[in-house]
Amino acid sequence: MSDQRVAVVTGAARGIGAATAERLARDGFAVAVLDLDEAACEEVAGRIRDAGGSAVGVGVDVSDAAAVAAGVARVADELGPPVVLVNNAGIIRDNLLFKMTEADWDAVMDVHLKGAFLMTKACSAHMTEQRYGRVVNLSSSSAQGNRGQANYSAAKAGLQGFTKTLAIELGKFGVTANAVAPGFIQTDMTRATAERLKVSFEDFITHTASTIPVARVGQPEDIAATISFLVSEEAGFVSGQVIYVAGGPLD
Ligand code: NAP
Repeated sequence: MSDQRVAVVTGAARGIGAATAERLARDGFAVAVLDLDEAACEEVAGRIRDAGGSAVGVGVDVSDAAAVAAGVARVADELGPPVVLVNNAGIIRDNLLFKMTEADWDAVMDVHLKGAFLMTKACSAHMTEQRYGRVVNLSSSSAQGNRGQANYSAAKAGLQGFTKTLAIELGKFGVTANAVAPGFIQTDMTRATAERLKVSFEDFITHTASTIPVARVGQPEDIAATISFLVSEEAGFVSGQVIYVAGGPLD
């Protein structure tokens, strides 16, 4: 265990989570890489260690209370008490409302909302004890409504309310909470959306880029850079905010 501050990133085996874990390691954090598959977490943690950072990979299903408790305890034991938490783990189960099943609804609520609740409850106990902490929740531009995503947009809007409440409750302990709401980011998640819509990922990207003011789609590193600021010490007066990172204006 070193005196480095410890950051936990969920859903960090790939996509935005992996880019965030690697960015926070470069920023000087010891990073716990959490995801469903511990071997996949270890690949990212290994890359961080090869680059000279500190990291552990921990297999955790964020929607499972016992797994979260055990995983966060392991992080505290192996790296130190977590003072940064990025609730990034996410899934999509898209369908038009009339075709959406109860299982599709529950799965999305469980990972995004219950997962963020369980992880924040477990990690914030360490943050309040340390009198310092930073929570960042991944919302989405879909929080404003998106065809085929009744479950996902409800969960991502819910995370915005969760974030603001965390900011109100935890501020006096030196803990801030903010949400980052990405637009279109090039990851396996948007690749899956292209497959569902039966268009090639390349065409989907080209078309989407033509609708974005900065004329490109986002990359995981765009989101990691915003999170890097929000978890920094100097961002201590920014709390309860939702920051859209979408290449153009949203509110
Ligand atoms: P991604 O490439 O699909 O990665 C998501 C990661 O979360 C995967 O590694 C996945 O594991 C993991 N995960 C899923 N369920 C989990 C659980 N119960 N416990 C722990 N880990 C779990 O997604 P992404 O595009 O990087 O998205 C990351 C976050 O940003 C999500 O919250 C997403 O909703 C949000 N977001 C993305 C976009 C975008 O355009 N990509 C836009 C707005 C918001 P497996 O691989 O094992 O399933």
